[in-house]
Amino acid sequence: SKKAVLGPLVGAVDQGTSSTRFLVFNSKTAELLSHHQVEIKQEFPREGWVEQDPKEILHSVYECIEKTCEKLGQLNIDISNIKAIGVSNQRETTVVWDKLTGEPLYNAVVWLDLRTQSTVESLSKRIPGNNNFVKSKTGLPLSTYFSAVKLRWLLDNVRKVQKAVEEKRALFGTIDSWLIWSLTGGVNGGVHCTDVTNASRTMLFNIHSLEWDKQLCEFFGIPMEILPNVRSSSEIYGLMKISHSLKAGALEGVPISGCLGDQSAALVGQMCFQNGQAKNTYGTGCFLLCNTGHKCVFSDHGLLTTVAYKLGRDKPVYYALEGSVAIAGAVIRWLRDNLGIIESSEEIEKLAKEVGTSYGCYFVPAFSGLYAPYWEPSARGIICGLTQFTNKCHIAFAALEAVCFQTREILDAMNRDCGIPLSHLQVDGGMTSNKILMQLQADILYIPVVKPSMPETTALGAAMAAGAAEGVGVWSLEPEDLSAVTMERFEPQINAEESEIRYSTWKKAVMKSMGWVT
Ligand code: ADP
Repeated sequence: SKKAVLGPLVGAVDQGTSSTRFLVFNSKTAELLSHHQVEIKQEFPREGWVEQDPKEILHSVYECIEKTCEKLGQLNIDISNIKAIGVSNQRETTVVWDKLTGEPLYNAVVWLDLRTQSTVESLSKRIPGNNNFVKSKTGLPLSTYFSAVKLRWLLDNVRKVQKAVEEKRALFGTIDSWLIWSLTGGVNGGVHCTDVTNASRTMLFNIHSLEWDKQLCEFFGIPMEILPNVRSSSEIYGLMKISHSLKAGALEGVPISGCLGDQSAALVGQMCFQNGQAKNTYGTGCFLLCNTGHKCVFSDHGLLTTVAYKLGRDKPVYYALEGSVAIAGAVIRWLRDNLGIIESSEEIEKLAKEVGTSYGCYFVPAFSGLYAPYWEPSARGIICGLTQFTNKCHIAFAALEAVCFQTREILDAMNRDCGIPLSHLQVDGGMTSNKILMQLQADILYIPVVKPSMPETTALGAAMAAGAAEGVGVWSLEPEDLSAVTMERFEPQINAEESEIRYSTWKKAVMKSMGWVT
């Protein structure tokens, strides 16, 4: 049959904490043509531990590529039109593998994992010079969240990792590095690299010089030869070279030319290119990023300073202030998997709708301690304000409300650090398909919430970076090209006073969640 004629296409791997996706966009209109998604297993081998299987992650990428190519075929779209591939990924999650066998030497230690709490405590006692040593170089607080301490734990506790380091066979990477190395040939010449956004989340990277920091590596005891090469977020890293399967292999030779941590990718996908533009992404966690231009802004209110993007080897770097919330969609998954009160994440909306209020019930899902703005590792989840009347619908509602209150806290911090309050909030991510959540969010922030009709903003950002790379040049980063993007708006409906009362009760609940672990 005759294939439809189209402009150049760009593919994007979006490897998140909950799932993997592969998506194909038309570079001329930013229209999403086809995609496939596979949920990823999470293992909780001990209390506070969160792991994933790097091989499962890689195979989910192959599967998504294969299925998406199949779907394109059914649409009569020729996959040879795919001119570039971008990668966006869950950040901080840490993998060490053997470069000779291609085998991971341990499960991926996921960003949410808390096993390094004692590592963090002992490291914080011997911070050299002033307390600002880590933060001034990296923009990050010393926390279990970032890769350096996870890697330290692997070096201290896993014999296979120690041995491979001694024998110079070990490679470290975040998920982007693991995927790009594997997709560009693995043991047969795979490219070991990362981009500045992912590097900025390891706690080993100097966000001013944009290089691995020797002093930090010494402080954490990390051998620098296992670290990937740091590149910009938009350049050709290597060409696809996978022998795994026929369909995925159909992209053989296509350049991988975009790489961004998922939150940076969403910032790019939402076109937040100007100083002061911000977006909030609701996935497993929730991450509000505000572009601060070429300037590193340090927060006085518990926000992180991070690399936003650098779209080309010779292009300038942009920074962002970030409010990170560990648990957002993860609380919905917990209600599904651990309590079984819903069978699918979407069902939460039905339960919440039945009651339309939490009836005084508050749910602080501090499963992994509290991140921004508190950075309180001693916090644990609580559900409070229960009465004889409370039922599962109220708890479902309280879970959704918790996501909105946490966003309010980071938005307040952002407004204080930036000086100019946001007039509206641009949102995206898996949870934003929940209309009750979006309306609640507008009510609790008391500003409009604006959502693009095409929700796959993270993947779009990675595709844009890949398509705009030097030597590919099929994507222009000018806004007028995004004709396929329309917006949905949620206006605040309750009054500010009511919203303030709810918010202050939430803060009381947060105080009760702290100090559970000593
Ligand atoms: P990630 O990028 O972290 O993998 P996604 O953006 O794919 O996450 O969003 C998935 C998360 O959103 C899951 O935790 C899931 O429980 C939650 N989620 C998905 N759909 C809904 C919904 N309709 N209502 C509430 N939560 C949802």
